[in-house]
Amino acid sequence: MFIDSHCHLGFKDLGEYTEHSDKILQEASLNGVNTIIDIATDIIAFEKAIAFSRNKNMIFTALGIHPLHIDGNLNFTKQDIIQHLHEPKVIAIGETGLDYYYSVDSKKVQKNFLEVHAEICEESKLPIIIHTRSAEADTVDILSSFVKNSNLKGVIHCFSGNKDFAKKLLDIGFYISFSGIVTFKNAVDIQQVAKYVPADHILTETDAPFLAPIPFRGKTNQPAYVKHTAEFIAQLRGESLTEFTSKVKSNFFDLFQKAR
Ligand SMILES: [Zn+2]
Ligand SMILES: [Zn+2]
Repeated sequence: MFIDSHCHLGFKDLGEYTEHSDKILQEASLNGVNTIIDIATDIIAFEKAIAFSRNKNMIFTALGIHPLHIDGNLNFTKQDIIQHLHEPKVIAIGETGLDYYYSVDSKKVQKNFLEVHAEICEESKLPIIIHTRSAEADTVDILSSFVKNSNLKGVIHCFSGNKDFAKKLLDIGFYISFSGIVTFKNAVDIQQVAKYVPADHILTETDAPFLAPIPFRGKTNQPAYVKHTAEFIAQLRGESLTEFTSKVKSNFFDLFQKAR
């Protein structure tokens, strides 16, 4: 019933694709989470992520170089991703994007990497998963041009901007995904956006192991907790949980068509 459209099972706290990761998935399943995208953020993680997703119905994989992992992946070329796109579980490109909050020095390289990922989407017709922080204008600029020229589709993950930024993204057809941050008491702007996003463009995620929602704030996050974020948003929007989660499900399969 619940969908975690973004988590990192390859990160240490979620087991790095060991038995511990299997336990995390069991816990998710027990909590009604039946669809998860695991995001691999480094070249060396790609094959491990794909291998882990095989024979597991609930897991899909996305491949990309995280904007804050560029330093460890400077030799990245398109082929590092393209060679895996025949894999049925690889359904999206990313996360990629711009993070000027933590790394403003690598601005130029970040933009270049984002464009390269968007070109892979152009060639493969797969959707893109975008990370953006303190880089709203450049994000909108780059995505808009790819939307215009090659009909790029995608999602802004872990949305943390305001209504104005959300509107610009919705105008170019992007989906908006909310993480546990939306449940935080001081996240008034994000809560406004969660009410404002049209029902056919909203998604849910954990971004685990980071940003656990209330009542687990401060603990290691895991896909099972997406339930709390979904319940919170449904209530915020005045929708029943079933109504909200069924919309999220149909949005998920509209965007990530290879997952159907
Ligand atoms: Zn991110
Ligand atoms: Zn992430």
